Amino acid sequence: MADGYDYVIVGGGSAGCVLAARLSEDPSATVCLIEAGGANDHVFTRTPGLLALMPEKLPPDLSKFLLSPMPGLLREVAVQVGQDVKAGEKLAVIEAMKMENILKAEQDCKVKKISAAVGESLTVDQVIIEFE
Ligand SMILES: Cc1cc2nc3c(=O)[nH]c(=O)nc-3n(C[C@H](O)[C@H](O)[C@H](O)COP(=O)(O)OP(=O)(O)OC[C@H]3O[C@@H](n4cnc5c(N)ncnc54)[C@H](O)[C@@H]3O)c2cc1C
Repeated sequence: MADGYDYVIVGGGSAGCVLAARLSEDPSATVCLIEAGGANDHVFTRTPGLLALMPEKLPPDLSKFLLSPMPGLLREVAVQVGQDVKAGEKLAVIEAMKMENILKAEQDCKVKKISAAVGESLTVDQVIIEFE
């Protein structure tokens, strides 16, 4: 600790911290903020230690769906129900922001269901095609 300070603020609560921050904006000023603090054995303080016991929430498996990556107009569905599709093949075309976006298969798959109709306005993450 320094021998002395220009400012000594007792209490690092809302007001004390703001005051200390403002006063220390002057690089020539020395500011001391004293906080008594409290016992740190409250359940809220220790809760992070319980994190390891929390069940892990896994993201849903969306690998069986083609979702619309953006809002737009469904211009074309290039596959049919029951069709085997190879990775890289065109699945659908969405028109958005005056551009045609071609959606391609990321892996080999078989079309189970076509859930959106050509001409339909799609929302983000709307299911277009379902795979087996
Ligand atoms: C349950 C609850 C909910 C609230 N919700 C809201 C809200 O939603 N929105 C809102 O605007 N306001 C809310 N408030 C009010 C707000 O918290 C207070 O108005 C504000 O914290 C007061 O700020 P302060 O700096 O004056 O005091 P505090 O924030 O209480 O800070 C005082 C600090 O001084 C320390 N201290 C005390 N004595 C000493 C000592 N001798 N030596 C060293 N340090 C010491 C204390 O440990 C404390 O950290 C709420 C208050 C409570 C109790």
